[in-house]
Amino acid sequence: MRLPKFRYLEPKSLEEASAMLWDDPGAKIFAGGTDLLVNMKHRVEVPAALVNLKKVKGLDTIRTDNGTVRIGALTPLKKIYQDPVLSGKFPVLAQAAAAVGSYHHQVMGTLGGNLCQQNRCKFFNQSQWWRSANAPCLKVGGQVCHVVQKQETCYSSYCGDLAPALLVLEARLLLKKNKAAREIPLPDFYSGDGKAPLALERGEVLTEIIIPAAEPGSFSNYVKFANRESIDFPIVGLALQTSPERKEYRLAFTAVDRRPVRGQTAETFLNGKTLSPDVAEEAARLASKDATPVKNSLYAPAYKRMLMGRLLQSVLTHQKEEN
Ligand SMILES: Cc1cc2nc3c(=O)[nH]c(=O)nc-3n(C[C@H](O)[C@H](O)[C@H](O)COP(=O)(O)OP(=O)(O)OC[C@H]3O[C@@H](n4cnc5c(N)ncnc54)[C@H](O)[C@@H]3O)c2cc1C
Repeated sequence: MRLPKFRYLEPKSLEEASAMLWDDPGAKIFAGGTDLLVNMKHRVEVPAALVNLKKVKGLDTIRTDNGTVRIGALTPLKKIYQDPVLSGKFPVLAQAAAAVGSYHHQVMGTLGGNLCQQNRCKFFNQSQWWRSANAPCLKVGGQVCHVVQKQETCYSSYCGDLAPALLVLEARLLLKKNKAAREIPLPDFYSGDGKAPLALERGEVLTEIIIPAAEPGSFSNYVKFANRESIDFPIVGLALQTSPERKEYRLAFTAVDRRPVRGQTAETFLNGKTLSPDVAEEAARLASKDATPVKNSLYAPAYKRMLMGRLLQSVLTHQKEEN
């Protein structure tokens, strides 16, 4: 499959990148290209121009400032799981980075690109020829959703591995446009409508991911259920952060909704409780209450709900055994 024609731009500064994106609403940021180029080959994204950020200095650094960690959006996933500070303080993030696709995706793919990747759907992630058998869907500018009929919302799912890890770490994002900057909590970055899944303004670039200092005595894990150990997106992914001493739990899922979701119902049940087989069983029953999986992949929504519970139960059981 060949790429469509596009203009290639290499800004040397963020201001220049922002101006290029502002001037041409059809331009897109190019980071590692592992998500974008595949979508371009399928003609589900046909940007007029690609703005490569690699010549902009300082976007791939990892800094610690009074315990707060700041990761540049262009940091490759491999650098994240190889960084001793990140893997020591935030195992959930390192495990999620190491779970992405294959080694090649981890070398080329960036943290920013992972958070900004397109939503996925079995009617969207297909070749132009395959899609031509159906009317164009909402995600490609059409009028219908082939998954949930008679809706104006696109029900494609966010399937990235890193966002749930960053949700349980309560990360914030730094977005820059020319000289202006705004910092937002990660949940606010996802719109919940697959048509335009990100709350990015025209000309805006995600520059930094900010993680608050690690809580002493906390544990975190990322577990992913996929068809194969390598290459595959998650069927369901679960990030969990716990503080056994304070009996506090934070959990988040991916690939089960239009955006990454916190499992707040299960969290509320778990908070303040000592882990036991009964507690883990009940948490598993509540795990899927905050997500709305739909039939937009090869896997039935009921199967995804069951997996959400089983993943949570197995992580909680494993953690109880370790304590
Ligand atoms: C076979 C295959 C398997 C994969 N498996 C997985 C998987 O298991 N888990 C997973 O999470 N992902 C997976 N991916 C998707 C992809 O490889 C990763 O998400 C990767 O981290 C994307 O990063 P990138 O730098 O290559 O993004 P790009 O492809 O360069 O960009 C992705 C999107 O983000 C936007 N963008 C990038 N950087 C910024 C920024 N700084 N500010 C604003 N917008 C930005 C781009 O414009 C584009 O829309 C897979 C891809 C393939 C082809």
